[in-house]
Amino acid sequence: MSDAILTLNAGSSSIKLAIFDLAPDGRLSSWRRGDLRETGDVQRFRLRDADGAGIADETWNVTGFEASLSRLTTRIGNELAGRRLAGIGHRVVHGGAGHRMPERVTPDLLDMLEELAELAPLHVPHNLAPIRAIARDQPDIPQVVCFDTAFHRTMMPVARRFALPRSYEARGIRRYGFHGLSYEYIARQLAALSPRIHAGRVIVAHLGSGASMCAMRGGTSVDTTMGFTALDGLVMGTRCGTLDPGALLHVMRQDGLDVDAMERLLYTRSGLLGMSGISNDMQVLLESRETAASEAIDVFVYRIVREVGALASVLGGLDALVFTAGIGENSPEIRERTCGQLGWLGLDLDAAANRRGAAVISTPESRVEVRVIATDEEAMIAEHVRDLPMLAGDPVQPAGPNR
Ligand code: AMP
Repeated sequence: MSDAILTLNAGSSSIKLAIFDLAPDGRLSSWRRGDLRETGDVQRFRLRDADGAGIADETWNVTGFEASLSRLTTRIGNELAGRRLAGIGHRVVHGGAGHRMPERVTPDLLDMLEELAELAPLHVPHNLAPIRAIARDQPDIPQVVCFDTAFHRTMMPVARRFALPRSYEARGIRRYGFHGLSYEYIARQLAALSPRIHAGRVIVAHLGSGASMCAMRGGTSVDTTMGFTALDGLVMGTRCGTLDPGALLHVMRQDGLDVDAMERLLYTRSGLLGMSGISNDMQVLLESRETAASEAIDVFVYRIVREVGALASVLGGLDALVFTAGIGENSPEIRERTCGQLGWLGLDLDAAANRRGAAVISTPESRVEVRVIATDEEAMIAEHVRDLPMLAGDPVQPAGPNR
């Protein structure tokens, strides 16, 4: 019987999953990818093979998280026939100041992470729910949590600190940064593709529904555009990015909005969707002829250009710019518009290479190399599960119902 590793990435209305084959020599290969999404009153489960071909597209009439998860684990169990699950890896958005590396799940760790949920109340409870349920129902399967904040543990205190009274920092109110699993994956890819670039000064632009950038030196994080929450920095699909906190106070006061209403505004009604009034989807906006759509894209690109300048000055120059995630990997237009404003850095885009989606899209003369690298957070999680010293089959204490 061969071994496999399952990764789960649980959000508010969907669970993304991937199954990797684990060879005896430790090599991982992607075998299945899929997701379970809430659409109206039903759940839609989709599964693809390693080449992206559809294997299943099912509608499930189940309501409630527990029932959906139970059906999902049964479905995955059937799919795994002939394979033994050596471990399950989970993406957890926030690890706070104390959790800086992937960790094996224990009841104590779960309790600690539960307390941290108040740092990211919109994400962490969703991340933790399947971990708790699996620990209860299948305690023999080792589980590992991988934190999106962990990659940024190398950020210096000066980059972490807010200019608030010191007592706030002691309470954990500081910059953490996110998209860490994506950045870690890109850093590993760079090390393999170009050790010289990996050793140098690199900005990675993770441009998807969520968007951020990371300044790296020698493959480690020096600074990033997201801060205490995943709301800060670049313009996103529905999130506002950097905002003057004074504007927030003003709107709350003028419109009488409470914290929950403000949270909904900033997380779900702003960004590309809010500015365009059309869509949060970049592809839709690029195809639209509406002025509001092109104005939203203008702001999206402008903020990237501005942040590249800031991060390049933090790095003391720039050797490479890497585009990744949905927009970064797939939109020559956004890459071209961004790079077109970065000539002052000595960056020279090869327009033809960019249009055809080449791996390197800068000219040989460009002082800054520009690359496109597909990210794979699931592969990074699977690597962490594989690399964590633990014996598959070690019993993990089940969490009690009130833990
Ligand atoms: P992600 O969150 O990484 O899946 O990225 C989702 C974003 O990528 C959405 O805004 C999509 O519109 C965008 N995207 C995907 N493909 C393209 C494309 N070919 N051109 C422009 N944007 C794209």
